Amino acid sequence: MTPGQGELKRVAVVGGGVAGLAAAYELAKQARETGLPLSIDLFESADRLGGAILTENVDGYVLDAGPDAVLTLKPWGLELCREIGLEDEIIPTQDEHRGVALFSRGALRSLPYGTGSSAVRKIRAYVSSGVVSWPAKLRMAADLVLPRGEQRADESMADFFGRRLGREAVERIVDPLIAGIYSGDPDKLSIYSTFPRFPQMVAKQRSILLSLLRAPQSARSGSRTLPIFCSLRNGLGQMVEAIVERLDGAQVHLSTPATTVEKTGAGYSLGTHAGRHNGYAGVILAAPAWTTGRLLGDLAPKPAREMKSIRYLSSATIFFAYRRNDLGPRPRGFGFLVPGCEGRRINGATWISNKFAHRSPEDGFLARCFIGGDRTGEELQADDDGLVRICKEELRDIAGITAQPLFTRVYRWKDSGPQYDVGHASLIGEVDAALAEHPGLEVTGAGFRGIGIPDCVYDGRETARRLVEYLRNNRTVPRR
Ligand SMILES: Cc1cc2nc3c(=O)[nH]c(=O)nc-3n(C[C@H](O)[C@H](O)[C@H](O)COP(=O)(O)OP(=O)(O)OC[C@H]3O[C@@H](n4cnc5c(N)ncnc54)[C@H](O)[C@@H]3O)c2cc1C
Repeated sequence: MTPGQGELKRVAVVGGGVAGLAAAYELAKQARETGLPLSIDLFESADRLGGAILTENVDGYVLDAGPDAVLTLKPWGLELCREIGLEDEIIPTQDEHRGVALFSRGALRSLPYGTGSSAVRKIRAYVSSGVVSWPAKLRMAADLVLPRGEQRADESMADFFGRRLGREAVERIVDPLIAGIYSGDPDKLSIYSTFPRFPQMVAKQRSILLSLLRAPQSARSGSRTLPIFCSLRNGLGQMVEAIVERLDGAQVHLSTPATTVEKTGAGYSLGTHAGRHNGYAGVILAAPAWTTGRLLGDLAPKPAREMKSIRYLSSATIFFAYRRNDLGPRPRGFGFLVPGCEGRRINGATWISNKFAHRSPEDGFLARCFIGGDRTGEELQADDDGLVRICKEELRDIAGITAQPLFTRVYRWKDSGPQYDVGHASLIGEVDAALAEHPGLEVTGAGFRGIGIPDCVYDGRETARRLVEYLRNNRTVPRR
C-alpha cells in the first residue's frame, strides 16, 4: 500500500471558532494533497460557526461584534485569507485617520502611531503628548541606558515593563494597550506568553524604546505592503464563510455540543447531546480551555485540571450607529483607550468608520465601546440598556459625543478572553506532555498557544498537520 492511502479514517473537530475551522480546513486540504481518505465531523455547540468572529449587517452598517482587525505582523491570518480566495477583499486601516489616543490625566491625548515618522518626530510627539508626568518621562528614558538585566524564566508584564520603564508607564501606557487585547491585569499576565517580543528586544537590542523606534510599522503580505492591521471588506465573518465553503464535504453539526471524550479500542468516541459518535482515529478539541478540560476530565484528569485553571474573562462590545451630521466634528483617529487608574467605566472606544472603509453608509458613522475584563468587568452586571447608558455617559464625558445614535447593539462575550498568567507556558508544556500519552488526541484554540486570529489559525492548522502525520505514519511530531 502506498503511503497516504488506506481505509477511510474518521476524525472529529470540536468547536467551530476560527481555530477549529482552520484545523478542519487543513485536515481537508491535507487529505486532498496526501490522498489520505478522511471523513471529518465538526461539532459546534452554537447554531452558527465562527465563535468570537461574528459580523452583522444592520441598515448598511457592518458590525464586527468580536474581532474587527487582523494583525499583519503575524502573517498566518492573512495567508489563510489569500488561500481561500479573499486576497481582493483584504482592506487596510485608513491611513488618513491613523492615530490612537489615551484618556490619561483627565484628557484625551494622542499617541504617536504609524509609518513615515522619523524617530525624532515620534519621540517629540510622545514627550509632548502628556500621557505621563514629567518624572515618569524621565524614568522611561532610563530604558535607553539601563543594562539588559538577568534573563528570567517568566515574570508579569507589570514587573517586566516596570523594571524597564517605571510604574507610571505601566499604569498609563501598558495597562490600556493590553486592555484592548487581553482586557487583563498586567500584574497577573505573563510577559513571555503574551508579548515575548519585548523580552527578545531587550535581549537583542537592550532598550525597548530604541527597538520600538526601529520596528517596522507595516508588513509585506503577498505582493502588498500593509499597515499593522487589516480587515475584510464585508467584515471578518467573510473569513468564516469562505473557510466553510472549502471544507470539502466535512459534516458540520451545529447546535451539537460535545459532552464527553472516551477512549474506545484504538480510537476515540464522542458523546454529544444528539447521541454517541464512535470510531474516531483522531480528535481535535478546539473549544475554550475550560470546556476542553471538562471534556477530558475522565480520560486525562491531570491536564484537564490544568486546562480548567486557565482564567477566562468576560467582555461586551457596544455599538453606536450615528448620522455623521449629528455628531458635530468628526472624532479623530481610530479611537481611544483608558488606563484602569483613571477609574472610568469603559476600557476604550473604536471609531470604526475611521479605522476601516465600508463600515457605514456615506452619511453614517459607527463607533464601538469595549467593557469588561479585570478592569471594568463589574459593569457587565448591567442589562443591555444599562450598558448602553454607561457608554453614552462615557462617550459624552471623554470624547464630547452627545448625539443620539440611530441604533445601538450590545454583544456579550461571556468567559471568552483567556488570560495567559505568569506560568502559562510551563502549564501548556505539561498539558502537551500529558496528552502525548493519547496519540490522535489534540487540543488547540486561543486558550493554549496564542490569542487572536493569526495565532489561532497557525495553531489550528499546525495541530491538523500533526494529526495527519500521526494518521499517515503513526508518528507524533513535536510542536514548535
Ligand atoms: C470582543 C473581542 C474582540 C477581539 N478582537 C480581536 C481582534 O481585533 N483581532 C484578533 O485577532 N483577535 C481578537 N479577539 C480574539 C479572537 O477573536 C480570538 O482569540 C479567536 O477568535 C478565538 O478563536 P477560537 O476558535 O480559539 O475560540 P472561539 O472563537 O471561542 O471558538 C470556540 C468555539 O467552540 C464552541 N464550543 C464551546 N464548547 C463546545 C462544545 N462542548 N462542543 C462543541 N463546540 C463547543 C463555541 O461555541 C465556539 O464556537 C477578540 C475577541 C473578542 C471576544
